Amino acid sequence: MNSAATAVIHSARLISSGLDLPAAFVAFRDGRVLATGTGSDWRELAGDGADVVDGTGQVLTPGLLDIHNHGGAGASYADGGEAIRTARRLHRQHGITRQLLSLVTALPDDLISQIHLAAAETRRDPTILGIHLEGPFLARQYCGAHDPAFLRDPDPELVERLLSAADGTLRQVTMAPERHHFAESAQILGDAGVVVAVGHTAATFEQARAAIDAGATLLTHAFNAMPGLHHRAPGPVLAFVEDTGGWLEVINDGVHVRPEVIRMLRRLAPGRVALVSDAMAAAGVGDGRYRLGRLDVDVASGVARLTRENSIAGSTVTLDVAIASAVQEVGLTPLAAIEAATTVPAQILGVEDRFGRLEPGYVADAVLFDSDWQVRDVWIDGRPVGEWEE
Ligand SMILES: [Zn+2]
Repeated sequence: MNSAATAVIHSARLISSGLDLPAAFVAFRDGRVLATGTGSDWRELAGDGADVVDGTGQVLTPGLLDIHNHGGAGASYADGGEAIRTARRLHRQHGITRQLLSLVTALPDDLISQIHLAAAETRRDPTILGIHLEGPFLARQYCGAHDPAFLRDPDPELVERLLSAADGTLRQVTMAPERHHFAESAQILGDAGVVVAVGHTAATFEQARAAIDAGATLLTHAFNAMPGLHHRAPGPVLAFVEDTGGWLEVINDGVHVRPEVIRMLRRLAPGRVALVSDAMAAAGVGDGRYRLGRLDVDVASGVARLTRENSIAGSTVTLDVAIASAVQEVGLTPLAAIEAATTVPAQILGVEDRFGRLEPGYVADAVLFDSDWQVRDVWIDGRPVGEWEE
């Protein structure tokens, strides 16, 4: 039978496409989802020699997508090929089957050489969906872990240079909309199919709303590096909550945003909140001193802070850990937590027709979690991650 499945995961609790189904199965063939269903119908689909995995009632989800991630396993994406491969391997093993490579603020020439290297890896590795630039068009007042000396207005000419260096791999740019030439730059990026995100910003509610009118669709790590939600100064968070076409990233590492606030955000903007790791080099490694761009960061008890001024600087979580804590600490339903790391980020990037769901025709990326929300198995393009790596 040559239309047979090459891999089947059965007897799992399938969380995908707005459903939470017990005793479910997913069958893969040619890197795609061939079929899904419940019960024992999978037996008729599995070909001879198919890889059959008993899910033993555990949670099976689409592969996770991380749209804000700077590195891990001691390596930063700014450091080129080998570093990108090292960190990417860590995240893949944590179930992040597709992701963007986030680069922090740097001098234009440095950033362009980082983009060249990241673009080359994006072309080589299909699990990398492209590049996210966080900076250099950010607010000095909310620079967080970005070197304030390198921040600048979003100059349309530099935007064109960054786009051409990326050669089609630039997917997302975070900017502060109160800076000069935001609207022209947003227009250029939007025309090139790049997601315009607002972040590291002092924007008022009105300025954030104007940014949305100018094409911004995403709020970078909501609440962090921006004015909060005040009853007389509602700020950028409420502007994005009120815009029903707007998306909001949130870092759920137990440090950046309180669980109660994440719960509120999800209630205010159901189906529009994306979990992101904002992982830096220390993710998956442990405490010690690391670099983020040109700045030193000290990690103690898993919390990363700038050595010079103690402000928090990226997280050390991987996205699977953020999901576990979204269920266990924040109190989201598993369905809501998984959606925030699969379908929502896929929609933000405009790849929801291929990624973020386990449905026939979708790319065969999946994660099997154990009962403690630890990753047990990962599949990429229908193959176990270990095999895929070879
Ligand atoms: Zn940031």
